[in-house]
Amino acid sequence: MGRFKLKCLKCGREYDQEHRLTCENDDSFLRTEYFEKKLELRNQPGIGRFHSWLPVQEELITDAGPITYKSEAFARELGLSNLYIGFSGYWPERSAFIKTCSFKELEAYPTMQLLKETGGKAIVLASAGNTGRAFAHVSALTGIDVYIVVPDSGISSLWLPEEPTESIHLIRMSPGNDYTDAINLAGRIAKLPGMVPEGGARNVARRDGMGTVMLDAAVTIGRIPDHYFQAVGSGTGGISAWEASIRLRDDGRFGQKLAKLQLSQNLPFVPMYNAWQERRRDIIPELDMKNAKKQIEETYATVLTNRAPPYGVTGGLYDALVDTDGIMYAVTKEEALEAKSLFESLEGIDILSPSAVAVASLLKAVEAGKVSRDDTILLNVAGGGYKRLKEDFNLSQVPPVATATDPDMPLEELNI
Ligand SMILES: *Cc1c(COP(=O)(O)O)cnc(C)c1O
Ligand SMILES: [Zn+2]
Repeated sequence: MGRFKLKCLKCGREYDQEHRLTCENDDSFLRTEYFEKKLELRNQPGIGRFHSWLPVQEELITDAGPITYKSEAFARELGLSNLYIGFSGYWPERSAFIKTCSFKELEAYPTMQLLKETGGKAIVLASAGNTGRAFAHVSALTGIDVYIVVPDSGISSLWLPEEPTESIHLIRMSPGNDYTDAINLAGRIAKLPGMVPEGGARNVARRDGMGTVMLDAAVTIGRIPDHYFQAVGSGTGGISAWEASIRLRDDGRFGQKLAKLQLSQNLPFVPMYNAWQERRRDIIPELDMKNAKKQIEETYATVLTNRAPPYGVTGGLYDALVDTDGIMYAVTKEEALEAKSLFESLEGIDILSPSAVAVASLLKAVEAGKVSRDDTILLNVAGGGYKRLKEDFNLSQVPPVATATDPDMPLEELNI
């Protein structure tokens, strides 16, 4: 007995419950259509609460989940009367128990569960850091095999709050290879028998998992917020918030207006910001990310440096921005650092660099009058609590099981 189907946003073709990333007719995104049209909260402490709109059969049992609270000190500083913080990270004083410290963990739980329920043996992904850590953690908890390909620069982000398990297969790429090389190698490994590609933004479990940040906010506030602030690299979080808003609107109890996406990137690497300024569906590399490699090296929040984001694809970020009359911001490193220390001192929790970019974008929005003081605002602090975590846990590094010299090397030589 299924709980949902997948529907192509371009041709309308429907697929029964399965782990599927693409339509057979075109390259559009698929979207989950749940048979439960009303959000019915389950009696689970974490993300499993939102089972109605997660593409898995069994309820997810974990205390890790999004939390939402109303800001006082930071809101006062900005002169806002309805500022809510969506926090994904570790902050036990506020019942936030995401021990890999970012909302990537909200993607990992449903993705791994869907893999298990659809008969997959092992999942393969490439990561610059946060995503790999989240999937490694869920692998350690569930024993489900995961193959994670990481460029050398991301290896230090692969720490865990527990001892690594043999189900985690970390493949390091030697220096000189970047995230794109990791993506290419992961794509080849995913074609081996028994391996399933994780799929990135095309993976509905990933999007609907991230969408729980919006769901948690809506049930906490009692309505869909007017504005949604987040820093984006791939834009998957923005797409997810949009899709969650649509489900909440269709539910009927949370208002009829979608949250306005107010998304940010970190200068100098801001391809989606550039394309959106001209309301273009396509990112033009020569215009929007000239000297991408150099720009990426100079970017403070490296998590936000995706060179092939799902922007123009049907159901991607461009469509989300159009539908919500969205705004994009370009934030400098200095603005981010200033916003980070302001937020941390007023709210009392440390935040990751991409979240500093999001906080800075809210400061810009207030200054430019893009929000009114009484509007209901959701600021997605998608990563934080790393310093707080280290007070409570000894972290272990995940050891690589193999090193790849280049993305095209023979897989037999990798010996994984
Ligand atoms: C991954 C990440 C982002 C960017 O997410 P998108 O996939 O672009 O939506 C922002 N903040 C944090 C903390 C992240 O880990
Ligand atoms: Zn289609």
